[in-house]
Amino acid sequence: MDVLIVGGGPAGRALAAACSGRGLVTALVDPHPERPWRATYAAWTDELPVDAPIAVSAGGARVVATTEHRIARGYAVLDNERLRRLPDDVRVVRGTVVERGPRHVVLRDGHVLRAGLVVNAAGASEGRAAQHAVGVVVPRAHAEPFVGDGEALIMDWRKPPDAGTPDPTFLYAIPVSDDQVLLEETSLARAPGLPLAELRLRLRARLAARGIPLPSDEERVRIPLDGRPEVDAFGAAAGLVHPATGYGVANALRLAPEVARAIADGVPIRRVVWPARAKAVHVFRERGLAALLAMRPEQVPEFFDLFFQLPENQQRNYLGDRADPRGALGAMSALFRAAPWRLRVRLAFSVQPAKGMRTPG
Ligand SMILES: Cc1cc2nc3c(=O)[nH]c(=O)nc-3n(C[C@H](O)[C@H](O)[C@H](O)COP(=O)(O)OP(=O)(O)OC[C@H]3O[C@@H](n4cnc5c(N)ncnc54)[C@H](O)[C@@H]3O)c2cc1C
Repeated sequence: MDVLIVGGGPAGRALAAACSGRGLVTALVDPHPERPWRATYAAWTDELPVDAPIAVSAGGARVVATTEHRIARGYAVLDNERLRRLPDDVRVVRGTVVERGPRHVVLRDGHVLRAGLVVNAAGASEGRAAQHAVGVVVPRAHAEPFVGDGEALIMDWRKPPDAGTPDPTFLYAIPVSDDQVLLEETSLARAPGLPLAELRLRLRARLAARGIPLPSDEERVRIPLDGRPEVDAFGAAAGLVHPATGYGVANALRLAPEVARAIADGVPIRRVVWPARAKAVHVFRERGLAALLAMRPEQVPEFFDLFFQLPENQQRNYLGDRADPRGALGAMSALFRAAPWRLRVRLAFSVQPAKGMRTPG
């Protein structure tokens, strides 16, 4: 076996497919390889590779902070069925890895698997900070008060009618099929993550205010934002989730073919996953997380008002582009200059020189 991928999430599967496409003898190990995913994965359309399997896309997006912003960018929900699909020649092993070396793993049942390279795609390790959310899928008609036809509501920071704590949360609302919409109450970043019970209370209050009952089937989101990335890893395990936004799927899908090429060429994969420029960008993003965590609740919507007033290329630099440190710094500096002084104090966390970072290599 040339490559063994530990973890059958979006990143592990994208890499397995890319490795098989390169002619590498590939296996993937996961405790429940047949279990469908319950997560709804979405991304800005222009950050996805052209062949990404899209289920539904919205032509434009909207953010409500203290004012409303329209964003002329497509936003897509991925098709999990197609995202999970693997080429026939990828060997799928059911098992839980309990010990991992660069060329072997030990499964919980005692089996040992060997390969030229073992890649850890087993998801992010826990850190201090996390993004938490509770979401429900409702008929489109029920979502009408929150989100318009053909659009994605990326964030609505208006307060829900009921809340047990002062923590800032926002409503995320995206179409997931022709007639259904996902409504999700989200705590962008908090250390520790905001309890799901609080998010559920707020979502229920938003819906109840419109006479809509809360469906019982919910999507629970827990995304570690500052876990320790690993070497010889991919996806969230490698630190590919944006520390200040929680997005990571587009990165994994875009990078999978490059990582597969590196593996085929015998190049260490961290050179592709963490080139110097991406490390530098990551530092600014970690600073962005620190700034978010330091803000007072009422400052968070204020911050996003400023952010979504930035020119679109600066928004993209900060949100999506991993390889443009100058662009990321430019976006952070522009935010700093535009911010009132009280917010500047918090943003100072994001532009001051970083003391260290946790990217591997
Ligand atoms: C509910 C939810 C919704 C999200 N939505 C978005 C979104 O819309 N857009 C976005 O960009 N990001 C989103 N994220 C964040 C991030 O992109 C996802 O967490 C993404 O799934 C990371 O992919 P991954 O393959 O690296 O890890 P994971 O999806 O966590 O997959 C890891 C896999 O490894 C397996 N595994 C774990 N331990 C072992 C072991 N010891 N042995 C073998 N296998 C193991 C797990 O069973 C799992 O199948 C979301 C996260 C969550 C939790």
